[in-house]
Amino acid sequence: MENNKVKIERNPTRSVKIGSIEIGAGNRIAVQSMTATKTNDIDATVELVNLMYDAGADVVRIAVDNKKEAAALAEIRKQTKANLSVDLQENYRMAEIVAPHVDKLRYNPGHLYHHETAKPWQQKVEYLAGIAKDNDCAMRVGVNCGSVDPAKKEKYSHDDSITPMLESALEHCEYLDSIGFHRFCVSLKDSDPSKVIEVNQRFAERRPDVPLHLGVTEAGIPPEGVIKTRIAFEQLIGKGIGDTVRVSLTVPNVRKGEEIQAGRSIIDDIYAGRVRSVVNFDTKALNIISCPSCSRVENEAFVDLAVKVKEMTQYAKDHAITIAVMGCRVNGPGETDDADLGLWCGPKVVNLKKGPEPLGAFPYDEILPKLKHELDKLIAAK
Ligand code: SF4
Repeated sequence: MENNKVKIERNPTRSVKIGSIEIGAGNRIAVQSMTATKTNDIDATVELVNLMYDAGADVVRIAVDNKKEAAALAEIRKQTKANLSVDLQENYRMAEIVAPHVDKLRYNPGHLYHHETAKPWQQKVEYLAGIAKDNDCAMRVGVNCGSVDPAKKEKYSHDDSITPMLESALEHCEYLDSIGFHRFCVSLKDSDPSKVIEVNQRFAERRPDVPLHLGVTEAGIPPEGVIKTRIAFEQLIGKGIGDTVRVSLTVPNVRKGEEIQAGRSIIDDIYAGRVRSVVNFDTKALNIISCPSCSRVENEAFVDLAVKVKEMTQYAKDHAITIAVMGCRVNGPGETDDADLGLWCGPKVVNLKKGPEPLGAFPYDEILPKLKHELDKLIAAK
């Protein structure tokens, strides 16, 4: 049976062209990754992009936060054949500078509120769609649990993190369609595989025509990071949902090709019927989440720290506690809010939090005992 391909009825999504590939409409499921080098370091970034391309990456995403990085991107473009995507953060106006050098623009609806607050989001999206059209780019509407549109969050109960994400994505799809821009896909990401499954299933029911980019954020260190992602992908891809994927792993840059290999092997396994039949995400055990790192990492010691946190906390493996380790101040503070204990790494210190409450900032060589102390207190309080 293992060699037989499982028959999976894919959702009837639209075709979306991204550089030399097309996603959706039954095309092969594309596998993506993202660079973690400083984008200004052109040689290192080109090397990493090409490493991912050689590992089979269909699209490689690069973060660009300022004009200097945009100039570096233009040079990187000349030195690789990879299809490139760019992540627009708060500064959505960077789109016009970066779009000539890439094949896809990703924007996060939750980030459109940070600049030019008086301007309606619809105008910003219309601007982005215009830039994408003029530069032959696709777009991704990338909704992330850590930065959901505040207006959507307010409408629903605090316990419901899924509906605001879903409503935000649906609203943006509807608006893009209404202005005649259809060359887009959507992602709905969370660090909890069960939420990724639910939100993507609900989206696919409402918009089976829109290609989905699947991913579990902050999946963490292999092998657990791969397992968490596999849990979500099996339930979605196995039901025909998903046109492109990213596996986010906390690994050093030289091992980033593993994200592509993991993505491809999860998809191949699903199609070969090699799945864990019933996958229940274990909510009774210790859950360590860590970001995959990107060009915004402020201290290279972050990847090492994530590994040490996992080792040090093994004694608590049977406790239902979530610890998040994040690489920078851009997403670290927000994305640790939902963890029981959170660490986000600055250039010289690591910030420790208990849920949304800050507990202080500590040098890299002092953070582990502090974390252990807080973990012991949590265990004792249970
Ligand atoms: S937390 Fe920061 S370093 Fe980590 S992936 Fe997100 S933006 Fe990059």
